[in-house]
Amino acid sequence: MTIVDLHNKLKNKQVSSFEITQEYLQKIKKEDKKIHSFLDIYEKDALEMAKRADKILKENPHPHPLCGIPCAIKDNILIEGHITTAGSKILENYISPYDATVIKKLKDAGVVFLGKTNLDEFAMGSSTENSAFGPTRNPNDLNRVAGGSSGGSAAAVKSDFCVFALGSDTGGSIREPASFCGVVGLKPTYGSVSRYGLIAMASSLDVIGPITKTVEDAKIVFEAIRGRDPMDSTSFDFIPSEKQIKKIKDLKIAILKEGISDDVDPLLKESILRLKKDFKNDVSKIEIVSLPSINYALPTYYIIMASEVSTNLARFDGIRYGKSADPKEYLNVDEFYIKTRSRFFGPEVKRRIMLGTYSLSAGYYDEFYSKACRVQGKIISDFKKLFSKFDLLILPTSPYPAFKLGEKIDDPVQMYLSDIFTVPINLAQLPAISIPFAKKENLPLGLQIVGPKYSEDKIFNFSKFIMNSKQLLEFGI
Ligand code: GLN
Repeated sequence: MTIVDLHNKLKNKQVSSFEITQEYLQKIKKEDKKIHSFLDIYEKDALEMAKRADKILKENPHPHPLCGIPCAIKDNILIEGHITTAGSKILENYISPYDATVIKKLKDAGVVFLGKTNLDEFAMGSSTENSAFGPTRNPNDLNRVAGGSSGGSAAAVKSDFCVFALGSDTGGSIREPASFCGVVGLKPTYGSVSRYGLIAMASSLDVIGPITKTVEDAKIVFEAIRGRDPMDSTSFDFIPSEKQIKKIKDLKIAILKEGISDDVDPLLKESILRLKKDFKNDVSKIEIVSLPSINYALPTYYIIMASEVSTNLARFDGIRYGKSADPKEYLNVDEFYIKTRSRFFGPEVKRRIMLGTYSLSAGYYDEFYSKACRVQGKIISDFKKLFSKFDLLILPTSPYPAFKLGEKIDDPVQMYLSDIFTVPINLAQLPAISIPFAKKENLPLGLQIVGPKYSEDKIFNFSKFIMNSKQLLEFGI
């Protein structure tokens, strides 16, 4: 069920939040063993929250559209009193001391939390195979990955274990799993949603966003969680500009030339070219446009992201948070740090801490970190130029559908390439959505729609139009 469907049923008293929450909990318990999308299930709490929501639904004739709706939360977002692991052994026993701002907002709306979903350790990865607690499987094909790092959230929505879920996106972690599982994922404009209570990966790129079944649902969740928060100085009040409310026929659409190269799955490439032909008369213009600096986005991202990771993760020292080395194992404080961090961080996290520490070290800072920042500036200005001529940009979410479990885990560069089309958007702090677009046998392929900052409404309108168009039916969606 979608948020819109369930909200109508709850409002018309066809069903209660309590009943529906019970059903979801049973379904998770029965079917999630094979998918492993949840790390923690809040059986008791969820039913309590549902009871409270039912009371509001009974008393209030105009309840919030999310009141009584069961959802799942990526396990790097804090919910007070519950464990938040970030997919890492180091935080296996870490109890959240407070609610993240998005959680507070969802609680105020009357949402029901079913539990926490699996992720790559500290959100670093593209397949959820880097989770210290085992991978999540793709509901469309159990031998394949669900994508990452919000793989648990995307798989839970696809499996109908919840009505919607929250994920976080630093370089593609909402959009790539949404694409691999066949659901909708929104990465909002950087700063439109507070990061307070999100375990930081790369603070200048991180953003929380919804994973849903429809574009309408993504809009409802986004509207509920966005807004300025005094606890996050990079957040701002989101005021959609009037200019965006354009009719479809007035839109100028760009198709990214680099997104239809021979490295992209041929079916996806063909579907995008077909969209150009089919929508020619529906929009004001639709043209193929090149953005050459996008080719530098992946290396730029891996310098900037890793640099921020190395500083953000310094706080996990075994003293302030989570697990620590056994007293028998160390003689001095240095040994204590080394033993703790060596034992409880996984290989990908260690790799990035080392890469980032190296890029920031004296002598290499100019060669790596500050150079990457200059390239980021170039990418930002190229996007600005593009959006002075076009309203929206279309490109694949990932070059290919979900790959097999184990296929890329031993080759980090191959794994990083899954995000070649998503990381540029984070570097430019832009909003983007991934919608199910084509299908290769039973494997979904996502289409990414990107706009200038604050253009979420325009993105919603156009992606709804694409999803509703009859051409998609022919692709089997
Ligand atoms: N897959 C990308 C990475 O490994 C993006 C991760 C994310 O967005 N959190 O860094």
